[in-house]
Amino acid sequence: SYTRIQEVEGKVRAFLALDEENARQAAKQLDEQLASGGSERGLLFGLPIGIKDNMVTEGLITTCASKFLSNYNPIYDATVISKLKEAQTVTIGKLNMDEFAMGGSNENSAFHPSHNPWNTDYVPGGSSGGSAAAVAAGEVYFALGSDTGGSIRQPAAYCGIVGLKPTYGLVSRYGLVAFASSLDQIGPLTKNVEDSAYLLQAIAGYDPKDSTSANVDIPDYLSALTGDVKGLRIGVPKEYIGKGVDTAVKEKVLEALKVLESLGAIWEEVTLPHTEYAVAAYYLLASSEASSNLARFDGIRYGVRSDNARNLLDVYHMSRSEGFGPEVKRRIMLGTYALSSGYYDAYYLKAQKVRTLIKQDFDQVFEKYDIIIGPTAPTTAFRIGEQSEDPLTMYLNDILTIPVNLAGIPAISVPCGFANGLPVGLQIIGKALDEATLLRVAHAYE
Ligand code: GLN
Repeated sequence: SYTRIQEVEGKVRAFLALDEENARQAAKQLDEQLASGGSERGLLFGLPIGIKDNMVTEGLITTCASKFLSNYNPIYDATVISKLKEAQTVTIGKLNMDEFAMGGSNENSAFHPSHNPWNTDYVPGGSSGGSAAAVAAGEVYFALGSDTGGSIRQPAAYCGIVGLKPTYGLVSRYGLVAFASSLDQIGPLTKNVEDSAYLLQAIAGYDPKDSTSANVDIPDYLSALTGDVKGLRIGVPKEYIGKGVDTAVKEKVLEALKVLESLGAIWEEVTLPHTEYAVAAYYLLASSEASSNLARFDGIRYGVRSDNARNLLDVYHMSRSEGFGPEVKRRIMLGTYALSSGYYDAYYLKAQKVRTLIKQDFDQVFEKYDIIIGPTAPTTAFRIGEQSEDPLTMYLNDILTIPVNLAGIPAISVPCGFANGLPVGLQIIGKALDEATLLRVAHAYE
């Protein structure tokens, strides 16, 4: 891993922190354990992994790509990190992201953008752009990301790898720095579907420390990879292949559907009629939750304190003004406004109602179909700087990933060829807690 990182990291810039000394030590310990023939090998024995920098790692700085948290050294591990330790992976370092996971290009990192390994003039996507770039460039074997409105799937699509957003509640959020708690989920970014199944197996499961954790039995995801999709019923939402979607992207998706057809699946066009309202509802809800979650960064309990503060109010004002980047401030303002009395019913409550309608859209399709398929994103990756001055265009890019988070259901992005010289992602969306079917279809197609 570190040799490869030395070769390419100067161009890809996926990492915010490398933890070489500890990683070497951990690897050595695993070696010794193996040599002594003592205990059984963990599920992911010795595999090098990278962690998005919004999951807390004991003793390893966790910044969320924010200047505000540049001094935050956690005193505990997120549950996913403890689970990885049990599975015996080796953590290589912390990966770049948009600040507090707000963004879709990695350009909102307070430190530096990461680059798309396929063409370094292009964004790797976001917010888990560092995770996707590191996996695509071979710097780590696999990585963890988080997905609130598409942040695992979209960068996976842009970088030509596999990204899985699990059902809300399947993977513990304990120790994930919260952005929008009702939407956030941690998931794997991997080179292929089999690795995705392995990594999901290691991190899924009930956690009493997360009050929204689902107390369900975890199936054996590997045994789902049968290659069999005969008789599978696929719904293809017309809203996902309609206007606004790049024709080259659409073509690749239709080709992928042909492949699945040749394997015995059938597909039909369906409708998710409230799709057009998803972006507006999401940006209201996510920003509302963010404005509340980010209140803890006050320069006292958390966050770098301003040197210029003279009194308590100064500490809050100045630390937050100096610490947060422009996109984070934009969302805090939008969220605070939407939640304020007098506006609550018109915005927040209305957005919650739209969220229910979107969930019902999916329920209706899943009455007749096993799976929903469309593109992960309307376009391939864009150039660094091309959209960074235009938040609204940036928000609209998320139209095909956001509905899945609002509904709490799982979805996976798998590579389905190239358009405009860059990778295209195929999005497969499943019923709640039916990751096994997602993985089976993705694996059969791949
Ligand atoms: N791009 C979306 C946003 O900016 C999604 C972010 C995410 O999933 N963390 O909010």
